[in-house]
Amino acid sequence: MRVHRISLPLSNAFLICDRKNILVDTGCQSDFAQLSRQLIERGVKPESLAAVVLTHVHFDHCGCAAELRRRGVPVIASEQARSFLKSGKQESGTLQALAPKFLRSTLGNILPQAFPAVEIDVPVSGILELSEFGIEGKVERTAGHTESSLSVVLADGSACVGDLLMGGVLGLPPAWMPAQHPATLNKPLCLREVSRLRRSGVERFHVGHGDLIEASYLDRWLDLQKVL
Ligand SMILES: [Zn+2]
Repeated sequence: MRVHRISLPLSNAFLICDRKNILVDTGCQSDFAQLSRQLIERGVKPESLAAVVLTHVHFDHCGCAAELRRRGVPVIASEQARSFLKSGKQESGTLQALAPKFLRSTLGNILPQAFPAVEIDVPVSGILELSEFGIEGKVERTAGHTESSLSVVLADGSACVGDLLMGGVLGLPPAWMPAQHPATLNKPLCLREVSRLRRSGVERFHVGHGDLIEASYLDRWLDLQKVL
């Protein structure tokens, strides 16, 4: 199994190659050409993906899901994400919603608030084994960043956790340093979920923003969070 990071302007997507190939997250709507190019460079045509998993409903993660689904790729997302995805609206915990009132309209002008609406083909309410999609691993709910947040936990000891955790502050260096995403609905819950994944044996965390986060840095950071 290999996990390839697809670096897009605002976020990371991940191509997981095992018996088949799946994509976790899709960047922004405007990222489709870059996303396709990086997939093709790794020998994977976008339409050949066995599935796309959306970790949550924010514009920088589900922007190209509709385009992939149009090409026949089934969409896997949390049951809680369904109505948001269907209406093309972000769920709670957006940067704009957390900003002070006077900044909201400015942020709203800078950050897109919508993305192309898309249906879910495979809703996840508990745990979804990915064997039928050719991947040794599972999708499981890890709420906290948003209501619908989920993670892809892989047999190689890594997990794609979306924005449950991020590298650096807004992805700036040092991007290997664990941090919490600023637009997070429930930060204590996020920490609990990260600790739970870590205890269940996850050694490497692929995050939506920043670099891969290794267990050694994460464990020290988690200890510090308990103190703070
Ligand atoms: Zn997010």
